[in-house]
Amino acid sequence: MTVGEGVRTAQQTSVACPGCRLEMPRRPASQGHGYYNASTECWSVYTEVLGAEFSNAVLFGQVHQLTVDSYAVQHAGGSHPDKSVAVHLVGLHLVLERSVRPTQVPALLQTLASSVRAWPHFEPPPAQWSMTVFDVAVCGSASEHAEAVRAWSASVWEAWAPEHSRIRDLANEHVGYGQ
Ligand SMILES: [Zn+2]
Repeated sequence: MTVGEGVRTAQQTSVACPGCRLEMPRRPASQGHGYYNASTECWSVYTEVLGAEFSNAVLFGQVHQLTVDSYAVQHAGGSHPDKSVAVHLVGLHLVLERSVRPTQVPALLQTLASSVRAWPHFEPPPAQWSMTVFDVAVCGSASEHAEAVRAWSASVWEAWAPEHSRIRDLANEHVGYGQ
């Protein structure tokens, strides 16, 4: 088989992620991804990125929370529960708009999760994403990785602009200010 044939074959068997629209070659056996509205191929890219963060303490502290929250809300819709989408949107809000340190976010989200009784539905934006987890996965160094996560999370948060005010309201009501 020539290289050209290989490319054609890959295109014919590519699959677009229903959440972030990332196109990846279809894999015959990929791991499951719970309830996220993601292709298994996209999910496997995400697990690679998580692996890089788990193996680098600085990277983990600086951007891991942004990665988790960005990936989650870029894969809303489908069977992804309102609670999970709302929690991760508030996570982005806390870091990007309130300058909360990423490592302080999990405790605040725990407060949120135990306080809210009825979770609001936030409508996912039309899938016009400028970046995906793939842009992070291809980074060669930790500093590039961190930079890519910051740009990716900012673009994801911006895409959710129509829901920003409702997300801020949810955070103001249930997460203590001045942390
Ligand atoms: Zn995806």
